[in-house]
Order: sequence, then C-alpha cells, then structure tokens
Amino acid sequence: MDIQTCHYCDKELYPGDITVDHLVPRAKGGRDERWNKALACRDCNSRKADDWPDCNCNRCRKARRIHWEKWKINEEKPGKRVS
Ligand SMILES: [Zn+2]
Ligand SMILES: [Zn+2]
Repeated sequence: MDIQTCHYCDKELYPGDITVDHLVPRAKGGRDERWNKALACRDCNSRKADDWPDCNCNRCRKARRIHWEKWKINEEKPGKRVS
C-alpha cells in the first residue's frame, strides 16, 4: 500500500487525516479537476482555507497557469498580494 503524504508539509497521512485540497482554491474559481487537486493533511488544508497555497512547486505553478490561461483570471499571486 502506498503511503500518502501531505502535498504541503510532507506529513504521512492516515485515513482520518486525508483531505483533498484544491491547488487553486474553489473560492477563487478553482475547478474540481484532477490537475487542481492534491492530498493534504487537515492542518494544512484548514490553514490554507480559501487562500492561495503558499507553495511554488511545479504542480501548483502549473495548476495556477492552467487556471489563469483557461479562464483569464488573473488574481493576486502568492507573496505578491496588494493590500
Ligand atoms: Zn500538511
Ligand atoms: Zn505545491
């Protein structure tokens, strides 16, 4: 059996601790599609909530790129938030 780990903190996930996170948050228009999903622990998922993930791995960047190109949504990028 594969060991599932959290996309954000690499923590090993146990069945009761697994959540499916959206790389582009649903609140930002993120789609319920495969490229936009990653496994995350409850802590990371609730910490992130409806915000952009503080993650710049290839997968997250790709998801954001697809999102922006496909729907021409160009919202704030992580770390470059204008208040
Ligand atoms: Zn985590
Ligand atoms: Zn990532």
